[in-house]
Amino acid sequence: MRGQMNWPNPPLRTEVDHLVSFDASVIKKLLKKHILAEWQSKWNASAKGREVFSLLPEVRETRTLGNFFLNQLYTGHGTLAVYQARFFGRNSSCQCGHPQEDRLHIVYDCPLWNDTRKKHFPKDHKNVALGLLANKISKSGLEHIMRQKLQTALSPSKGEN
Ligand SMILES: [Zn+2]
Repeated sequence: MRGQMNWPNPPLRTEVDHLVSFDASVIKKLLKKHILAEWQSKWNASAKGREVFSLLPEVRETRTLGNFFLNQLYTGHGTLAVYQARFFGRNSSCQCGHPQEDRLHIVYDCPLWNDTRKKHFPKDHKNVALGLLANKISKSGLEHIMRQKLQTALSPSKGEN
């Protein structure tokens, strides 16, 4: 018959179990471990995404963040003016007058967020870099900033604080 091939009979499960002395779950586990190691190796060596790498150097299967506001700081995407400028041709400057409203400016330098930094960040926050994202209280401050920024972006007549 056309298109039909003569395949040998597939092995029976008992024959396979006899030939392969370990459980399929062991193979799955080894493959998963190998894939993660390969992913980690590529992530370590990549020239791309180095800012995200500085925040999240370790690859994981689980979602690390899952927060709309903080993800904007991790990725640099969203309401930040530099992102809006890059993708939508808008002005990249911050409302404080700084020419680049990027995440580092927002987190460390922007005078509009001095009160939030005082309230939520440790005094040495410039030394812990974006390790602020690992601290629960700092995270709430960062989330506050990004939430306010979104509100401002959606309603430009409102103030930032
Ligand atoms: Zn600013």
